[in-house]
Amino acid sequence: MQQVTILGATGSIGVNTLDVIARHPAKFAVFAITANRNLSLFLQQIQQTQPKYAVLATAPENSDFVKQVQQASPETELLTGSDALQMVSSHNDVDVVMAAIVGAAGLMPTMAAASSGKKVLLANKEALVIAGDLLMTQVRESGAVLLPIDSEHNAIFQCLPNQFESQPFSKTGVSKVLLTGSGGPFRTLPLDQFVTITPEQACNHPNWDMGQKISVDSATMMNKGLEVIEACHLFNIGVDQLDVVLHPQSIIHSMVSYVDGSVIAQMGQPDMRTPIAYGLAWPERIDAGVEPLDFTEVSQLDFSKPDLTRYPCLALAFAAFEAGNSMPAILNAANEVSVEAFLNRQIAFTDIAAINEAVMNKMTAKKCTTIEALLEQDNMARDIASQLCAQLG
Ligand code: NAD
Ligand code: MG
Repeated sequence: MQQVTILGATGSIGVNTLDVIARHPAKFAVFAITANRNLSLFLQQIQQTQPKYAVLATAPENSDFVKQVQQASPETELLTGSDALQMVSSHNDVDVVMAAIVGAAGLMPTMAAASSGKKVLLANKEALVIAGDLLMTQVRESGAVLLPIDSEHNAIFQCLPNQFESQPFSKTGVSKVLLTGSGGPFRTLPLDQFVTITPEQACNHPNWDMGQKISVDSATMMNKGLEVIEACHLFNIGVDQLDVVLHPQSIIHSMVSYVDGSVIAQMGQPDMRTPIAYGLAWPERIDAGVEPLDFTEVSQLDFSKPDLTRYPCLALAFAAFEAGNSMPAILNAANEVSVEAFLNRQIAFTDIAAINEAVMNKMTAKKCTTIEALLEQDNMARDIASQLCAQLG
């Protein structure tokens, strides 16, 4: 029986993770679940899973909540704060940690899971973007197993040869990693209409049902940019060993091209329960509750190159990775602030890329050898981005 902690249980990935776990009660038990704000869903999850710990990022405003948790699950201990998030990520009794908090808020608990040698299922791509080198070092030193849950990276992981990361690239037989992306809801929208895009339109992804932040990131393709950086860290490759390919149907979740001309693709429904189940059971396979792919209903698979004038955030991510050091952390922080401001209707859709770029230009990438130093850079970038949003708002 594997004891699982789910960080960000009330989010889109968290809910899907609980769905897969509930299908396999003999294999997985919920040790801890964590959440930020959605107390009614959290309470329901506590009642259903009866975890040892339930952790809120901050103390609940509703003073009855403690009593409600006691009634829903008398054995559950309710904790609050960042130390508690790290405790349930590194606790001795935990085998698996699903890292599914959105944004930089997920970094410290993910690091805690990695440094205590857990099987870490990584959905929280921002953690790798901010602190890729430090996180990967922790994984190697502690003997943790890091499995990608992001659908593209999970696909690539399934298509790569065994022990890929530990061999020199030239010995692996791989020629390119092909990272696919749908292009989001505005792939064909005339560019002069981008300024009027609303949060509702941006969050309405054609293929995937996801949290708000990643939905906006998919619309700007910042998500693909973050995923490029994520892939380079996860698979120990350079950006020149990877191509981004637009594939609007999201049936192929990514591919690996080999020197002999073979291309191996991983396909399936756009349903995150597939990569979640793969991560939970790896190296075995378990039922994920996902409909099989019916090829007679897949009418066509299209592919094209992304247009960087349509998706300036993708170009910014390449530039940030090339600049190295703290620049990916700076870009990520600026983007978290600008996306939040867009969702609050403070700035226009097109301001997201403009603010991200301005913050990158105002700061200098710094070599950071500690998480604290990286978080200082993250804070500075947030301050600058907030000022820029306020000027526009
Ligand atoms: P979401 O917004 O639906 O859920 C986020 C979760 O994080 C919630 O449980 C929320 O309570 C928690 N949270 C938010 N702010 C927090 C804070 N300050 N402290 C502690 N907890 C906090 O997001 P999601 O779509 O589930 O995405 C989660 C992560 O997975 C993101 O990093 C995203 O990029 C990645 N991801 C998601 C998908 C998807 O299909 N949703 C696919 C690939 C990768
Ligand atoms: Mg993805």
